[in-house]
Amino acid sequence: MIIIMNAPTEEQMNRILNKLMVNNLEAKTIAIQDKIMITASGGTEARHTELYSRMPGVERVVAVSTPFKLVSREFCADNTLVHVGSATFGDKYIPVIAGPCAVESYEQVRQTAVAVKGAGAVMLRGGAFKPRTSPYSFQGLEYDGLEILSAVGRETGMPVITELTDPRLLDSVDQHVDMIQIGARNMQNYPLLKEVARSKKPILLKRGPASTIEEWLMAAEYIMSGGNNQIVLCERGIRTFETYTRNTFDVSAVALARHLTHLPVIADPSHGTGNWRLVTPVAKAAVAAGADGLIIEVHPCPEEAMSDGPQSLNPVNFAQLMKETSEVAKAVGRKLGDLI
Ligand code: PEP
Ligand code: MN
Repeated sequence: MIIIMNAPTEEQMNRILNKLMVNNLEAKTIAIQDKIMITASGGTEARHTELYSRMPGVERVVAVSTPFKLVSREFCADNTLVHVGSATFGDKYIPVIAGPCAVESYEQVRQTAVAVKGAGAVMLRGGAFKPRTSPYSFQGLEYDGLEILSAVGRETGMPVITELTDPRLLDSVDQHVDMIQIGARNMQNYPLLKEVARSKKPILLKRGPASTIEEWLMAAEYIMSGGNNQIVLCERGIRTFETYTRNTFDVSAVALARHLTHLPVIADPSHGTGNWRLVTPVAKAAVAAGADGLIIEVHPCPEEAMSDGPQSLNPVNFAQLMKETSEVAKAVGRKLGDLI
């Protein structure tokens, strides 16, 4: 159950909290914008919701049957729209984020940005702190990478996104980007989720490589209950027995997550497949399944990429992806990127 209160007095709050305690319902108080929400584990029966909705200071009470509460469709039937610069996630229009896996140099990012913008991408991605499987692999340009990404974003008029890998880096990353990515490996890094909830920037939350949909939505609940409701979910493939692809892209997760939550759900067919030849077909499948956006790795010369070259598109193939996927978007009554 979620009890929504509009500017309650301290006394009204305490009466609710005391009653929840007497009823043995565990409560958590959350301030989101001008509202106070009290979530209670349990209390889904009509007698509970009726009782609390009559108490002073209460605007309404919503019974939520799932363990994720604030992010659930039961709590909020309408799609949440997440705005990043001129891009809006969760609407008819489908924004495309594109750019290199890792920031390697100013020239590499600038060249990529100009190419992807020309093809209709509305946001620029680039990793500065890279979570690599091997400690011997390129770890990213770190602070210099943040500077390069934000400079190119300003010069090209594109909002930028990068991954936050460590709670200690929040302030530096926050200052340089328009959206913060929580990577798949960190989806259940709870101190990181609590820290990023402090940011006023929108968050892109990737699904963990071995996470259930419920675990993914519970991770989003950490961010939202920490006070940041600007969250976009990203399906990026899960680990299965298949070895011909890097991950198995779970297209049903896109449709299911959109049913279970009011948050926008986007797709990452680059990490979802690990193979540039599969990126366009899977992008099309994701858009057909209802994806609210795409994030695509693009490199001016994928053969020379310092990370994720095999799954990166070159600018020509990216333009082709945009062309083909916009036809699918049209077929499902939506519009892709900056293309009409
Ligand atoms: C990335 O976007 O470059 C990345 C590391 O993605 P993921 O967390 O999905 O592996
Ligand atoms: Mn990558």
